[in-house]
Amino acid sequence: MVNLQNMYLSTGQLKELQLGRLNRTLQKCRESILYREKHAGYPLKIEDLRDISQFPVTTKEELRECAPLGTLAVPREQVVEYHESFGTTGEPISVWLTAADFARWTQQIEHCAIDFNPGDTVLVRFPYAISDPAHIVQSAAKKSGACVVPVSSRTVVSPHSRVIRLLRKLRATVIGCLPLEAILLAETAKLMGYDPATDFPHLRGFCVAGEMLTGSRKKLIEEMWHARVYNMYGTTENGNIAADCSAGRLHAAEDHFLLEVLHPKSFEPVPPGERGILAVTTLTLEACPLVRYVTGDIVTLNPAASCSCGRNGQVLEHLGRYSDRLDINGTTIIPGDLHEAVLQTPGNLISALWMTGVSENGLIVRAESEFPEAGTSSVRAFLSKRLGVPVKLELVPIGGMFDRNKLLEVSPVIKPRYVANWAADNRYPRTLDRLLSGYHTF
Ligand SMILES: [Zn+2]
Repeated sequence: MVNLQNMYLSTGQLKELQLGRLNRTLQKCRESILYREKHAGYPLKIEDLRDISQFPVTTKEELRECAPLGTLAVPREQVVEYHESFGTTGEPISVWLTAADFARWTQQIEHCAIDFNPGDTVLVRFPYAISDPAHIVQSAAKKSGACVVPVSSRTVVSPHSRVIRLLRKLRATVIGCLPLEAILLAETAKLMGYDPATDFPHLRGFCVAGEMLTGSRKKLIEEMWHARVYNMYGTTENGNIAADCSAGRLHAAEDHFLLEVLHPKSFEPVPPGERGILAVTTLTLEACPLVRYVTGDIVTLNPAASCSCGRNGQVLEHLGRYSDRLDINGTTIIPGDLHEAVLQTPGNLISALWMTGVSENGLIVRAESEFPEAGTSSVRAFLSKRLGVPVKLELVPIGGMFDRNKLLEVSPVIKPRYVANWAADNRYPRTLDRLLSGYHTF
């Protein structure tokens, strides 16, 4: 049984819990190279949670520069896992976990209202290499008694078509994946002759993470599959910060994290409920504790008082990465607003697969459409009004932006083999790379 008691504490009890854990973090982080220097001269203990604002913020650049060992606050003998950020924008950030850290990250996933149970068969479609969500979701599902099927993405072993076959064959009940992957799996199912909404009656839900998911995109995936979608928001550096409750709201795990919403440039707190950049202080991480870590994600945080689920964690809304914002002729568009505007366009002209580009004249929205010949003036007007910039809309037929054949491609699976059947076929491989790459038949 999942212990969620901290999610129902009174505000006073929660603040007391947070303050005690925060002071332990302020002491613990001094064991790391980064904070020994960064926090020199700062207090080891504070009396009020608001005093955290006295401390300097921690940036991604600092974490990159001090990787791989700079944030490690425990002896190497105590860590049991290592993960990295993808490093798409520079050196990857290193994250070490103790066994207790891993257990707490698992517990944070258990906060999600997908509520894994012993009757579940869970296809874990997050990538297993280097990053952590696959491992944490797998751990949470198994801990709850569910059966896990590791169908990692980004590998030739489990292409999309194999996942669909397993989904049918095993009567799987849950898929854990990126939101985009849920859309691509639906496309694959259609190519294989299935209707995602009706031909997978055992599938009860998705737990998604790793990508911004707005309300409209969640609704789109739910309608596509006729199954619930539960969102989880986290970062490689912190763990899972917020998870969807039964009412579909992202509640922050405030017993594990102290959250601040800051102005993106001054790092001063923004007024309650307003948009800003999320900064996270970890309250329970042992191996790599972080203080005021600026995630770069645009969020809002609002009190949970009105949520029907009764949880106390503030409701978080994730609106994309600050670095992904568009600046067009002085107008700033953030990813969350862009996604919502495009997916709410009237007339069902825009499918789930679309992209945008910026030109000298404004924003270009390019999308696959079942009605590529339709007039677009009303949609352009809608988007221009919503986004505050001139918009050009380019509709292309289904398949015009994404080659569906790629979804059905099956690459040869590389398994170590050292014996070629030279007697049977004169096209046999004579080099090891060709032998291993599947140009052989045994
Ligand atoms: Zn709720």
